[in-house]
Amino acid sequence: MNTVALLLAGGSGSRMAAASDDKLLLPLAGQPAFAHVLTACLRSRVITGVVIVSRSASQQQKLQQISREVSPDLPARFTRGGTSRQGSVKAGLAAVPHSTRWIMVHDCARPAVQSDSIRQLHQLLLRHHDPCSLAHRVPDTIRSFPTDPTSGAATATLPDRSTLWAMETPQAFPAPLLQKAHANLQQPVTDDLAAVEALGHPVRLLENPFPNPKLTRPADLPYLESVLAMTNTTPPNPALYQPPFRVGFGYDVHRFAENRPLVLAGVTFDHPRGLLGHSDADVLCHAAADAVLGAAGLPDIGHFFPNTDPRWKDADSLHLLRLSVRHAADAGYHLLNLDLTVIAEEPKIAPQLDAMKQNLADATNLPVSAIGLKATTHEGIGALGHAHGIAAHAVAALAPQS
Ligand code: MG
Repeated sequence: MNTVALLLAGGSGSRMAAASDDKLLLPLAGQPAFAHVLTACLRSRVITGVVIVSRSASQQQKLQQISREVSPDLPARFTRGGTSRQGSVKAGLAAVPHSTRWIMVHDCARPAVQSDSIRQLHQLLLRHHDPCSLAHRVPDTIRSFPTDPTSGAATATLPDRSTLWAMETPQAFPAPLLQKAHANLQQPVTDDLAAVEALGHPVRLLENPFPNPKLTRPADLPYLESVLAMTNTTPPNPALYQPPFRVGFGYDVHRFAENRPLVLAGVTFDHPRGLLGHSDADVLCHAAADAVLGAAGLPDIGHFFPNTDPRWKDADSLHLLRLSVRHAADAGYHLLNLDLTVIAEEPKIAPQLDAMKQNLADATNLPVSAIGLKATTHEGIGALGHAHGIAAHAVAALAPQS
């Protein structure tokens, strides 16, 4: 490993507590926040390995999973951090391979870091061998008070704004210098430049043209999303992408048979023939169940309710639909709406549409307004048109459960 990115993922995130116990796992522009950091490292093409400092075994497991998905070919070591930022950097430094020449320390709470910035900072380091940091100019007027000015009037000093810079990460170092700086550190520091400055070493800055804000409060999420939308032009990793909703499609057909009840969406029709099937052969419920299961990425109803299983003999298919919605919930999705079309030459469906919609709504826990149901004929064409059976199409939309 020539250049290691030391990624600090162990911040407590206490200000995010209401939103999540781990801000780096929060979805940001469709991916966990941490995935954006790894992607930037990967695309910089200058990072040859990463050391990831986490705060717990469970967090480490989740970060490992993300790193396998995002950057399977980037060597990654994992270690557990200390209680302070400094302790975490020390733990990370202990895990850095001895052959490492350069180290870039990055606070993963800045997930919008750009690969270009990482590359340019790396170039600056290799050109001069001086510790350097990504930074931006301070646009605000800064006052420094010796006492708390909110509890009494106080006299401030005003540093010249043109000399002020706000530090970001990454910060980049020759590996031996950073190791030595942290080994010798006597006072707590809030970034790593301060550790090498304590050795009397001058530092350089690279002005960051991109916003690189910290994810500190839930209110930062929309801002970070807008930053990523502005700067990130490549599509998200499909293995990690969590779309706002998913769509599933279902189709079913059953043939007519004598001496069977005709059940459609739980309504029994007064009709001389019914549909043949192991269950009650309710073609609409079957299509709806397949749409729901399909949207959740699950196998079809034949998998969950096989026609070889006596439990489902003459089963009420509204119940099978209810169970399918439950399977989707177990997979992490809830149903948003259903839209169905039944194709039947006979009987007349329209008079029962309201009752059918109500049954579908009850089985799926949806309001009736979220159920679409249309009936059509097959215009005398083919087997359906000759009333050999009834078919149904269904589309379902599911959203990830939050
Ligand atoms: Mg069926």
